[in-house]
Amino acid sequence: MPQSATPFRIPANRWSAEEAASLTPEGLLLYRSNLLGSDLTVTNFGGGNTSAKLDAKDPLTGETVTALWVKGSGGDIGSMKLDGFSTLYLDKLLGLEKLYRGVAFEDEMVAYLPHCTFGLNPRAASIDTPLHAYLPFAHVDHVHPDAIIALAASTGGEAATREIFGGSVGWLPWKRPGFDLGLTLRDYVAANPGLRGVMLAGHGVICWGDDARACYDNTIDLIAKAAAHLNARLVKGPAFGGEAVPALAPESRAKIAARLAPRLRGLMVGERSKVGHFSDTPETLEFVGSKAFARLAAVGTSCPDHFLRTKIAPLALDPARIDDDAYLAAALVEYRNGYLAYYGRNAGPNDPKVRDPNPVVVLLPGVGQLTFAADKTTARLAGEFYANAINVMRGAEAVGDYVGLPESEAFAIEYWALEEAKLQRMPRPKPLVGKIALVTGGAGGIGAATAARLLSEGACVMLADIDAASLEAKRAELAKVFGGDVTRAVPCDVTDEASVQAAFDLTAREFGGLDILVANAGIASSAPVEETSVALWRKNYDVLAEGYFLASRSAFPLMKLQKTGSIVFIGSKNALAATPNASAYASAKAASLHLARCLALEGAPHGIRVNVVNPDAVIRGSKIWDGDWRKERADAYGVDPGDELEAFYRDRSMLKRNVLPEDIAEAVYFLASDASAKSTGNVVNVDAGNAQAFTR
Ligand code: NAD
Repeated sequence: MPQSATPFRIPANRWSAEEAASLTPEGLLLYRSNLLGSDLTVTNFGGGNTSAKLDAKDPLTGETVTALWVKGSGGDIGSMKLDGFSTLYLDKLLGLEKLYRGVAFEDEMVAYLPHCTFGLNPRAASIDTPLHAYLPFAHVDHVHPDAIIALAASTGGEAATREIFGGSVGWLPWKRPGFDLGLTLRDYVAANPGLRGVMLAGHGVICWGDDARACYDNTIDLIAKAAAHLNARLVKGPAFGGEAVPALAPESRAKIAARLAPRLRGLMVGERSKVGHFSDTPETLEFVGSKAFARLAAVGTSCPDHFLRTKIAPLALDPARIDDDAYLAAALVEYRNGYLAYYGRNAGPNDPKVRDPNPVVVLLPGVGQLTFAADKTTARLAGEFYANAINVMRGAEAVGDYVGLPESEAFAIEYWALEEAKLQRMPRPKPLVGKIALVTGGAGGIGAATAARLLSEGACVMLADIDAASLEAKRAELAKVFGGDVTRAVPCDVTDEASVQAAFDLTAREFGGLDILVANAGIASSAPVEETSVALWRKNYDVLAEGYFLASRSAFPLMKLQKTGSIVFIGSKNALAATPNASAYASAKAASLHLARCLALEGAPHGIRVNVVNPDAVIRGSKIWDGDWRKERADAYGVDPGDELEAFYRDRSMLKRNVLPEDIAEAVYFLASDASAKSTGNVVNVDAGNAQAFTR
């Protein structure tokens, strides 16, 4: 058994002759690509590219020509479809060599690629296209699995490659991807006949085959052999020089992450807030708790695929000092200054402007890693890429010393004009991207509609509700539309102090903090005052007054850390307008309305806004209206509890319109977003007009 917590996984050969039998040549390329990309031991998310040189009929001349099918820019080979490949005339691509003016002019070569397009294919060709074009093999794979990069980023990597593959896999020193690398690779392979692949130092491997199957087999076998070799080394001793700091118990790790994430998030500078992601996998804990941790973390990530997501270096924190705010603030300032200095050392006059200097990866011995990015998926992926980097370091150290890229090379990739162009092409983020919301009563009609509205504008949402079964159903429903990364749920009773605090702690740990609280969980009851039991009275006050207080009290410290926040109470028309036979409900709603005003006063110095949305008669979708409330209200107004009731409320409204959960959600969105940045202590009635409830 290897002593390391996580040996390299050996990829399985999953080729199915049966499935492949009926496929066209381009179908086989897609099949091979999907097989490779869907196995994370073969290539990490979005990494790697595959190609085939296939006969095609030229639409202009009718002659048979060779088209290079190669994975285009962006996308992921695991999930791509045929339209993810760019197609280019091979002879035109090869002809570009005549135009190549040297490494200083790499970028102009990329501009020539669209001129080689075959078949009006709109998919942009990637910068790795020359690597595939100039190799004289029909099928080529280029992947970056951890076990391979481990060799490619080790002082012992070249010797190990020779030992593992008996000289059948070549080795090229680091060179930035592009035209120059394509030509160098071609010449190297021509000078070393009989190779089955070439290791690209600091980068990955490129290998080939005469047909799709042979190419796939070759790739899988190369990775399997590299992984087995590393595992055989890893059993010889503990990874990373052994343990220096033991991992804390899982509950302690979770607690520390919940406390630390919002404080770090609050200390990050920039126009938009970030979302956090916490991970404490065995390989992360092994690394951050190891003797070699500080030394290796300082070297930074080595593979471009990794550091474009993680930044070159993580921020390593001292677990003994994380409760000290001054320490945390200083650590972030130091990190940012270090990043700005790195930019200053390397940037030329024509380079893009400096980007966000905050750390992406924050590491804590005994606890794990936190990653921060503009949105949840990017933060999660950054965490996964750092986990890849940890694997790489573990393997690299098992056969030599782990080596990073020269700083100037890393900078050149990070600030490459083509990378910048990609960033510039990205659409403007939606208004709530980077924002984190908690919605109490999130499994109910108004709560779920509100969650959907906030999610649709890019927010991350934690649904909190006492009804665990409906909660999970709603979470799954929303996750289907908006994705699992941004949709979470926590069972929570808003009348229970500990349960409320736990929901906020979970939100801080899952997303990194809190920007928006929608206090919405509610019940309704109806009874004349003499029939209102103390239990009924208290229940209304517990849920509708104390429940709103408890949620706000837990939200305040998180929002204060970020110096901004928006709390929206779902009140009721009944908070402003007295109603017959519902004194407990209506007066509890009035209590929470006044609570909102008090909190608006207390919150303002900290940038926390508190506003109220007052619905009335939201019958469709609301569970309140499924129960006794419906009959009681119908009785109170002397109408039939069936369809008549909705008509009664509609006709009672000034605008004669039904009020729907989505109407309430729209008002909440307005008050939660910066569109209302200058409003606090306000009430918005969404009741189709009710003169009794006019604010005055
Ligand atoms: P709903 O019953 O569909 O949703 C309320 C949710 O709150 C439910 O999912 C319920 O499980 C949850 N909840 C109840 N007690 C809880 C507790 N102790 N802890 C956590 N969750 C709890 O009703 P809705 O119409 O969506 O109501 C949402 C809010 O809107 C309530 O505050 C309600 O008073 C208010 N409101 C509704 C109307 C209307 O006509 N529907 C009118 C005015 C005000």
